[in-house]
Amino acid sequence: GDNTYTLERFPLDQKNRSLQAWDSGDEYLVNYVQEHYPDANSILILNDSFGALACAFNTLTVYSVNDSYIGHQATRYNLQVNELSSESLTQLNSLAALPNQVDLVILKVPRNLGYLQHQLAAISTALPADIDVIAAGKTKDIHNSTIKAFSQYIGETSTSLAVKKSRLIISKTSGLNKVAPFPVNWPLEGSEFEIQNHANVFSRDSLDIGARFFFNYLPQTSKARSIIDLGCGNGVVGLMTLKRCPKAHVTFVDESYMAVESAKLNITHNLPEQLDQCEFVQNDCLTDFQPDSVDLVLCNPPFHQAQAVTDHIAWQMFKQAKQTLKHGGELRIIGNRHLDYHEKLKRMFGNCKLLGSNKKFVVLSATKNN
Ligand code: SAM
Repeated sequence: GDNTYTLERFPLDQKNRSLQAWDSGDEYLVNYVQEHYPDANSILILNDSFGALACAFNTLTVYSVNDSYIGHQATRYNLQVNELSSESLTQLNSLAALPNQVDLVILKVPRNLGYLQHQLAAISTALPADIDVIAAGKTKDIHNSTIKAFSQYIGETSTSLAVKKSRLIISKTSGLNKVAPFPVNWPLEGSEFEIQNHANVFSRDSLDIGARFFFNYLPQTSKARSIIDLGCGNGVVGLMTLKRCPKAHVTFVDESYMAVESAKLNITHNLPEQLDQCEFVQNDCLTDFQPDSVDLVLCNPPFHQAQAVTDHIAWQMFKQAKQTLKHGGELRIIGNRHLDYHEKLKRMFGNCKLLGSNKKFVVLSATKNN
């Protein structure tokens, strides 16, 4: 068929519009599947960044698994822009049970090996033997450990030649139910807490060094303040804040489903009596949050998205934090020194205070005065 689509990267208003919403791995997969599986009726797709694969296989029954809120949103948007129906599309979060009957599985290899293992184990558990599993990735991102994960969790595995710097990994289910070692647990230093992390959570295996430094600058009050942990990951920042501000209302926000679910686990197990003061929201930053509604936004912002280094997410977080804060409310962030968030915040808020710094990080505070 006609394989030409218009695809947008999400969110739509980022500065660098030259970044693409698909890559050579998507093209390779589409061509390979159309050539080898002309009779397929149903397909399970994992990690389709912005919906390129959902568009290409729109005539099939599609199950699309994504940990990313933005990925799900972009998929719906790109189908619509290309006047394709979403009637035969089922979008699944990263912890949902997979369908137990499809003709074919395709996936984009995620950067995170543990998340790949989690996904392959889920495929092995859901599907019977002899279903083909075809993965695509950048040659430089496919390591021996990547291929080993396929043979360990799925079955016999081979790889294709590289085309435009991408390769395919070709495997077939063996009907065995494999289990991957997630969530992982570790004790949170300087506390009595135990942290649990699902496979695709930022800094899954230990406390992020930025978060550790940020802990020195968290608020402490007995007042009932409303606080947002923006880009919460496993929720360590909100958890430590809740301990120091026992009456606070804390909203944990992340665009990763596994992050939000991990934060929920970590409050449920560590501060169960404060659970009803918390909300857990999967969202793109603070889009559609009530303006002028919170006292404090705490944030350890990300600096890449879908393998591109970019600061547009941090920028969006700061802008939307300002909208969401009450008059007199505060945005408090930790950032790498070299990113120069100080200038950004000063321009946006008209003020910015340095609360602390070390060789690598700065902690900054900006107040909403207008
Ligand atoms: N707060 C955690 C910590 O300090 O360990 C995680 C911080 S990590 C540097 C940044 C987090 O922002 C990641 O969990 C990532 O999933 C999340 N994130 C990235 N883009 C986002 C977006 N558009 N909206 C909400 N969260 C996002």
